[in-house]
Amino acid sequence: MPPHNSAVNARVGLLRARGLKVTAQRLAVLDALMSAHGHPSSEEVHTRLKRKHPTISLSTVYSTLTAFTEVGIVDVLTLADGITRYDTNTEPHANFVCLRCKAIIDLESPNVAGFLEEVRALTPYEVVGQKLEVFGYCDKCRGRAPRGRSKA
Ligand SMILES: [Zn+2]
Ligand SMILES: [Zn+2]
Repeated sequence: MPPHNSAVNARVGLLRARGLKVTAQRLAVLDALMSAHGHPSSEEVHTRLKRKHPTISLSTVYSTLTAFTEVGIVDVLTLADGITRYDTNTEPHANFVCLRCKAIIDLESPNVAGFLEEVRALTPYEVVGQKLEVFGYCDKCRGRAPRGRSKA
């Protein structure tokens, strides 16, 4: 079984464990979300779905993604451009954001989890998550002129 399918199967188990009914529609949205590799917006997930599932509306996609967020199987990212994106990596990590092509890439670092542990140990706060963004230019974009801000 390709790794993508086993990742989807793992999420199916999570849906059940978090008390969400596993419907064909939810599975379709989940599959599109996982195959988007990264941090798609609800519009991007909808565009991926349209070919195979032309009857699923954008508002259905949005409410399904909201349900996924509420049970914690995806994280919401709201970056400076105001577009809400969905992150299938719910482990503590930083996101690298390319300022030119807007690619968002997971940065795995044990230090992020360690930082959360440190905050828990050193403060009286109940820490439930983190959002950490690192900005710059990806390997394809570094050294090139930045794009005009007007055409974001
Ligand atoms: Zn880039
Ligand atoms: Zn991420």
